[in-house]
Amino acid sequence: MPNEQMVNYGQARSVIRELFEYGNQRAKIVGRDKVYDFSLGNPSVAPPPEVDRELRRLLDTSDPCALHGYTSAPGDPEARAKIAASISRRFGMDCEAGQLYLTVGAAAGLCCCLRGLCNPGDEVVVFAPFFPEYGVFIQSVGAVMKVTPPEIEGFQIDFAALERLITPKTKLLIVNSPNNPSGAVYSEETLKKLAALLEEKSHEYGHPIYLISDEPYREIAFAGVEVPYIPKLYRNTLVVYSWSKSLSLPGERIGYVYVPGQVEDSETVYAAVAGAGRALGYVCAPSLIQRVAAACCDLTADLSVYERNAELLTRELRAMGYHVVAPGGTFYLFPRTLIPDDVAFSEAAKALDLLIVPGSGFYCPGHVRISYCVPTERIERALPAFRKLAERYR
Ligand code: PLP
Repeated sequence: MPNEQMVNYGQARSVIRELFEYGNQRAKIVGRDKVYDFSLGNPSVAPPPEVDRELRRLLDTSDPCALHGYTSAPGDPEARAKIAASISRRFGMDCEAGQLYLTVGAAAGLCCCLRGLCNPGDEVVVFAPFFPEYGVFIQSVGAVMKVTPPEIEGFQIDFAALERLITPKTKLLIVNSPNNPSGAVYSEETLKKLAALLEEKSHEYGHPIYLISDEPYREIAFAGVEVPYIPKLYRNTLVVYSWSKSLSLPGERIGYVYVPGQVEDSETVYAAVAGAGRALGYVCAPSLIQRVAAACCDLTADLSVYERNAELLTRELRAMGYHVVAPGGTFYLFPRTLIPDDVAFSEAAKALDLLIVPGSGFYCPGHVRISYCVPTERIERALPAFRKLAERYR
């Protein structure tokens, strides 16, 4: 008998994927332009031209054996040096190449941190709503997931609830700002309060409580919204980043874990992250794209369509009577459903060929996620369906 937990992960249905597949089937029947698919978080803008240019340059000018060969396990030293310089310059850190561990995207970065830091039975605190894969990543290392209930007025942090969840067994917390699915960005005030609480609890329990800042959406922040750099506010922060969204390269699988020197026992923590990568069999991140990401790490794709889409959807949905917390970034909107049952609400939307994801999958019922990483005209075409849905519950 195979490992039962893995069988369950392999067989569990993904509501998001099912909606996406349903959309493809419906498109064959009613036509692509009559299906309003907002299910997946797949970037809809092309990578910046520099990405392809760098790919071509590397292919034309490098020794192919070196280019396509294994790099050192944490990543090519030159690529890491470039990325470290960029982090130091942009965020005022003293980042060194030896503190970066390149990974196959943020997902692998999270798994390396969890596997590297947690012993079985340790507790990991997350904040609803959150990326559902956290549950898989946390449970598969034998840790226990503790969910902080959502603060639905602004999607910041319910500190009273959080304080009750932190125990001597708390090993780490995962924060994700800008957030999938709420689009919220934690303010500096929220993060300072969080840092103060974690300092106090670390002191009380006599061991560091780590913070993992999962930030694949860092660069997708809208006008006037500041995304604080969390290591500047809390010493024991590890950063998990990827270029999946900022450079529109999700299929290329490239990101990093950054263990700043200020982290308590940073060299041991770094070794644990690298050891976890080894134990998971990652070997090294894809070699060609490591170099491309390093050459382009100060760039982004043209992300402006996401902000336009956010404004359009927020304005129009509010006018129809939906309650929407305006997102500070990402490409997700997370309005309240017009009935308490978000699954039934999503089903009613589906009957109008409007594909939106129930919030309960993100541990936040009573909401739906709309992924607006789509052409603006799809949103314009979908507005009558959103209106019809609102009228149904009026
Ligand atoms: N973390 C969050 C919050 C995400 O939304 C995603 C992907 O959508 C990931 C991590 C994984 O990103 P990657 O594609 O870089 O593995």
